[in-house]
Amino acid sequence: MKNITYVTQPFLPPLEEFIPYLEKIWANKVLTNGGPFHQELEQALSDHLGVKHIALFTNGTIALVTALLALRVTGEVITTPYSFVATSHSLLWNGIKPVFVDIDPNTFNLDPAKLEAAITPQTTAIMPVHCYGHPCDVEAIQKIADNYNLRVIYDAAHAFGVQDAGGSILRHGDLSVLSFHATKVFNTFEGGAIICPDAKTKQRIDHLKNFGFVDDVTVVAPGINGKMSEFNAALGVLQLKYVDQVLARRKEIDGVYRKRLDGVKGIRCLNNAHAKVGNYSYFPIVIDVNYPISRDELFNKLKDGGIHPRRYFYPLISEFSMYRGLNSSKKENLPIATSLTQQVLCLPIYPDLANEVVEEICRFIAAQGF
Ligand SMILES: *Cc1c(COP(=O)(O)O)cnc(C)c1O
Repeated sequence: MKNITYVTQPFLPPLEEFIPYLEKIWANKVLTNGGPFHQELEQALSDHLGVKHIALFTNGTIALVTALLALRVTGEVITTPYSFVATSHSLLWNGIKPVFVDIDPNTFNLDPAKLEAAITPQTTAIMPVHCYGHPCDVEAIQKIADNYNLRVIYDAAHAFGVQDAGGSILRHGDLSVLSFHATKVFNTFEGGAIICPDAKTKQRIDHLKNFGFVDDVTVVAPGINGKMSEFNAALGVLQLKYVDQVLARRKEIDGVYRKRLDGVKGIRCLNNAHAKVGNYSYFPIVIDVNYPISRDELFNKLKDGGIHPRRYFYPLISEFSMYRGLNSSKKENLPIATSLTQQVLCLPIYPDLANEVVEEICRFIAAQGF
């Protein structure tokens, strides 16, 4: 293992194909504020994803912050400690108190069975994450939300293109938020979106992402600048032509990993059991006590060999200093997440990763200490 292999490498379309898009932007001189490529990408994405309304954003984090603002969420929001920090940060940016609930050991998503006990009179919403693009138990979550009159905003940053039996996973809850960051399966370098169920909500979101302006002279809310530029939107239009190809290649790699790691003692590959169509955005494995060395030992050995996996998600969000003091951050409240964060490793997966490298990684993992 001589070459350095990272957990992901962004997909880029051929550069020459992007030139005509740039020429168009240079010719019409519309650079942002809902230009032609912005409109085209919104339409193309809602067709591709099978969703009704989509509002593009400069990134997924500002989209999360705006989603909470759009639904006027306040007080306390129940969320998962097992995610990227942006999930909880979006709550703090709205002056909301995060309340962490433990995860399901099979899906790594919020455990609905533990939700109700965390609800207080201050609770106004739930923010679950479709971790690794594996769908949450959306029905159980909605049932609780309906019973207690809570909003549901999904952090769907990992879930581009994921479908359950009824269609896009993004149709669930009040809103879903996507990220198009360079590391995600569909990227616009930086970018994001909110999926909303009706035109009126999209309109409010569109106002909020443009400082709250509804016309030249009227500002209706303390909005933010969350607009996606024409450069990023044009790139998105081009990237979308390649996304099926990208997902197909990711699926192939996922298959090689599963075949080669099957039967390796102490290694469990996570299954995306609730998805009808997955997106193979990550390849997480769980390294348990039956494996000869610890997760961190394997992590370091792989790194020495030029393979750079990631410990997604370690540490837990609840372990960072700005969250540590919360009651719900106590380890006793989060036993499953606390133990899994020590055992998980996300292996490299991206379209340009050669099968031989995947095989080599698997041989390396299978050979440790046996
Ligand atoms: C990437 C990511 C985000 C943030 O998205 P950006 O577009 O990078 O701002 C939020 N939540 C999760 C779970 C993510 O993985």
